Amino acid sequence: MKIVHTVDEVRAKVKEWRTAGLSVGLVPTMGYLHEGHKSLIDRAVAENDKVVVSVFVNPMQFGPTEDLASYPRDLQRDAALCEDAGADLIFNPEPENMYASDFSSFIDMNTLTTGLCGKSRPIHFRGVCTVVGKLFNIVQPDKAYFGQKDAQQLAVIRHMVNDLNFNLEIVGCPIIREEDGLAKSSRNTYLNPEERQAALILSKSLEHGRKLIEAGERNVSVIIKAITDMIETEPLARIDYVEIVDWNTLETVDTITGPVLNAIAVYIGKTRLIDNHIYEEV
Ligand code: AMP
Repeated sequence: MKIVHTVDEVRAKVKEWRTAGLSVGLVPTMGYLHEGHKSLIDRAVAENDKVVVSVFVNPMQFGPTEDLASYPRDLQRDAALCEDAGADLIFNPEPENMYASDFSSFIDMNTLTTGLCGKSRPIHFRGVCTVVGKLFNIVQPDKAYFGQKDAQQLAVIRHMVNDLNFNLEIVGCPIIREEDGLAKSSRNTYLNPEERQAALILSKSLEHGRKLIEAGERNVSVIIKAITDMIETEPLARIDYVEIVDWNTLETVDTITGPVLNAIAVYIGKTRLIDNHIYEEV
């Protein structure tokens, strides 16, 4: 497995593979890889001849008060995980290599990006769409892999690919969790032991919602109140949002009549965590 840092090196490698008639999968990440990322890489390795993992903490998707500087980084460890999983290339660009000093083109979306995480992170999805669009153009993969952990991101990317005719397939992969239910995340490293315990309120409250929905509850405000009440029993938790939205449009719904996303964002101490359940069939 090779690690490259420039766009030209990725292009040269992919050209070599394409000339040999090989298919290419892409797994975009911000690094500090864990089992969640590994599940995406495993799937990409199973479904493509060659797999590129991008490791790039994209400055454009972080707000001014967010954790860009402190975001965990460990390229050596990431390389070992990618090598073990059977990836072929890590693309680890420098920000200057992705964004020249005169950079001025962006991919923006007006619909799916305004709610949920977009409310408290107004510039986030513009940064995500722009960098993912760039990665699609640089690697030109047949398939790209995204986790349902970031469900809004998955919906936004699918929409962008459709709107802008990117010629690839987007594959959504299920959320990988710790044994006690906490969704794996690079940001879990910010939690001290007490906060780590408190963070279980995210998965527990979503499970509470699942039970209500499985028991036949379809009134969204009833389910949201039950989840909110449960999160509020945890003193270290502060809710950013608890929402149930249409899984295709991400618009709010009053009654569950089709596929929905139940998404939550909760601060545990200073760390903002997200989790969700997707109900494809109700
Ligand atoms: P990140 O490095 O956090 O930007 O994540 C890179 C990709 O890995 C995104 O598509 C995430 O949705 C996905 N991912 C992160 N955590 C998990 C998880 N626990 N389970 C499944 N996918 C995940």
